[in-house]
Amino acid sequence: MRLGVFGGTFDPVHLGHLVSASEMREACRLDQVWWVPAGSPPHKPGVAVSSDADRLAMLRLALEDDPGAVVSTADLGRVGPSYTVDLLRRIRAEQADADLVFLMGGDSLRDLPTWHDPQGILEIATLAVARRPGVSVDLDAVCRAVPNAAGRTQIVDVPLIGISATDIRGRVRSGRTIRHLVPAAVEAYIRANRLYLVSD
Ligand code: ATP
Repeated sequence: MRLGVFGGTFDPVHLGHLVSASEMREACRLDQVWWVPAGSPPHKPGVAVSSDADRLAMLRLALEDDPGAVVSTADLGRVGPSYTVDLLRRIRAEQADADLVFLMGGDSLRDLPTWHDPQGILEIATLAVARRPGVSVDLDAVCRAVPNAAGRTQIVDVPLIGISATDIRGRVRSGRTIRHLVPAAVEAYIRANRLYLVSD
């Protein structure tokens, strides 16, 4: 079993996440992708995050027709910061025989050296990285800081999608369209629950 783990804030999940994950799934021959919304993201202490329930509901709506996707609550309802290395340790404890591949965008790879115990992450999982517009990926620089990233990181060419959750939230707040940037059911959820109408 080759298991992709895609962690993120997903506030909200958008087409950039969905297209990248599907491309990484194919390129890395993953049997499943587990989507794991972060409880209390250590990298984004100042950013207002929608409730766990709202982010989970939007992920479920976005992925309900995708048989290879599993929405996981493994990182929710925990106290303290949610570190990726701890999440991967918990998944490893349950999935002793799976090859774990942690999925991320190029901005996350660039920041990886500042994460908690990046070497530990790479001891448990390999990385698949989707390029993101406007973010150059300097794998050599990452490998100088995190030596075991070398040979355990696959950069995947995906259609570049210049969408961020920050942009989606800003569009909603200023009354602009988000049609086609998030799945229709996610847009309907955002409208029905009046998400993102106040500033981050
Ligand atoms: P925000 O704008 O709130 O920072 P985001 O759009 O970057 O959010 P996250 O939930 O923080 O979304 O991202 C989860 C993961 O998905 C990260 O590894 C990020 O690099 C990746 N990702 C997000 N958007 C894209 C995109 N458009 N293309 C490729 N990867 C992406």
